[in-house]
Amino acid sequence: MSGTIIDGKKNAIDLRRRIKSATNNLKSKYGITPGLAVVLVGNDPASEIYVRNKGIQTKEAGMESLEFRLAEDASEDNLLKKVEELNNDNSVNGILVQFPVPKHMSQQKIIETILPLKDVDGLHPVNAGYLASGLKGMVPCTPQGAALLIKETLGELSGLHAVVVGRSNLVGKPIAQLLLKENCTVTICHSRTKDLKETCLSADILVAAVGIPELIKEDWVKPGATVIDVGINRLDAPEKGPGKTKLVGDVDYNGAIKIASSITPVPGGVGPMTIACLLLNTLIATCAQNNIEFSELGF
Ligand code: NDP
Repeated sequence: MSGTIIDGKKNAIDLRRRIKSATNNLKSKYGITPGLAVVLVGNDPASEIYVRNKGIQTKEAGMESLEFRLAEDASEDNLLKKVEELNNDNSVNGILVQFPVPKHMSQQKIIETILPLKDVDGLHPVNAGYLASGLKGMVPCTPQGAALLIKETLGELSGLHAVVVGRSNLVGKPIAQLLLKENCTVTICHSRTKDLKETCLSADILVAAVGIPELIKEDWVKPGATVIDVGINRLDAPEKGPGKTKLVGDVDYNGAIKIASSITPVPGGVGPMTIACLLLNTLIATCAQNNIEFSELGF
């Protein structure tokens, strides 16, 4: 028996369709168009692709997409000034600085300069604090997307044992908080965890957010578990031709799918949910900034 494949692409399309419809309601009821500003420093090819896709999907959702580019050698002060400018611009509801930024800039300083209400990446300590306190705030996009896929797959999560491998502020910690909020019993693992295999084997929900290709093996998965692979690792793929690469997750997908009841593939699992959740955050932020109840939009 083979597990069900959790189709992140399809879920993301459905989510974006609902966001577009809610955005149209916002426009017709209040005459407000959400605006998302993305700032890109330098010319990193992967970041260029992310930013282009974000722009396309933002416009498709009926929102205003603003793009700002700074040179690789721009000063940190210049970038922070740009962020302040966007903080003060009423037509901008969400601000995202594409990471990574060049080494001479402090990622943390940038995160803390963005107004928490416009922090659609959900990385500001104020938003992390809201999440840890079980309060409303901006939730980081990738963990939010992963949690939506888990809810969609399993429905009620209360009492399930969730094991999250990885404790970054970007993925591991927020997803653990989201699952705790759903009344899961949550175990967080990291590079110092002893008995990682045994801990993973006890998981009803196993989330991998590590960045090590296929770290989680077939015999680490409890029969019937739901496996969510957040990892994105680019490996050489000479079998596809010279210079070709492929994406693999943190889970041995071909092995784990034989044991799990459901599993996300890489690519096509959690990845596509990230931009959809960014748009959702932009819409939520727009409502919060204009004192509009999000529930009014029929989402
Ligand atoms: P980080 O490098 O920030 O964190 C990795 C985590 O894995 C750390 O907590 C680390 O532990 C832990 N870890 C490292 N080695 C081991 C090990 N051998 N056993 C157990 N735990 C280990 O990565 P991110 O959280 O930013 O990203 C994780 C993965 O998710 C990456 O593959 C990344 O590409 C992907 N990703 C995908 C996104 C998307 O789908 N759009 C978005 C963001 C990330 P410690 O804290 O002890 O060092």
